[in-house]
Amino acid sequence: MLDMHVHLIGHDDPREVNREIIREYLEEASIRGLKEIGFADHDYFWNQMNFPMIREVAEEFPDLAVRIGLEAEYRPHEEGRIKQLLEQFPFDFVIGSVHEFDGWIFDMPEAEAIHHKKNADEIYGRYFEVVTLAAKSGLFTTIGHLDLIKLFGVRPGKDILTLADEALTAVAEHGLVLEVNTNGRYKPVAEFYPERRLVEEIMRRGIEFTLGSDAHCAKVVGRDLEEASQMLTQIGVHSVVGFANMAKISYKLG
Ligand SMILES: [Zn+2]
Ligand SMILES: [Zn+2]
Repeated sequence: MLDMHVHLIGHDDPREVNREIIREYLEEASIRGLKEIGFADHDYFWNQMNFPMIREVAEEFPDLAVRIGLEAEYRPHEEGRIKQLLEQFPFDFVIGSVHEFDGWIFDMPEAEAIHHKKNADEIYGRYFEVVTLAAKSGLFTTIGHLDLIKLFGVRPGKDILTLADEALTAVAEHGLVLEVNTNGRYKPVAEFYPERRLVEEIMRRGIEFTLGSDAHCAKVVGRDLEEASQMLTQIGVHSVVGFANMAKISYKLG
């Protein structure tokens, strides 16, 4: 019913966004029966973003709530830079994501071999330390793909609930939302982010969920979100949240 993690600008070929491209995304969202879609391009494509154009095309889709967010790369020493970006536009929501730490971009295909060489507990530990700082920064409404560090299928020796404990505490204390991000299924790990045990723990702690496909093209909008909602319902989650003007909007599941 909602997809709050959608990219208009692709990684490999950062294209010029035009009305036709935006329309394709919104058409796909409508076909899939979504009530709300949230665009959240990576902050490093700032100069290619065109928010007025999104607003303009959205007027053609009166039944769809079209939100504008940002997926900001969280690096602990760059909080000021993110803050400056957020002051430049009235975003509906902001996803804080960790794709790198200590100068290592760990989610690129080239990083896979290094994952297998490094100590898994150490990289999980360091990753969740940075996620904890992101949650404490006060910059975000949402933490993106909570256990992204698993993407190549390398598992820690330590219990994932212990590794993620502090990050979850920070998320709960700061009222942040976590997404079920279905894109993990299409990575070597082949499962949603976060894994089911974490999803259950998140629910137990009373943290709210949102849903995201992490689509980088129109066809992927809403992918597997029906299944993600069913999974949430099965474990006892009754609602998910969208965002307008940085405030949560609750949607009943099922
Ligand atoms: Zn991401
Ligand atoms: Zn993303």
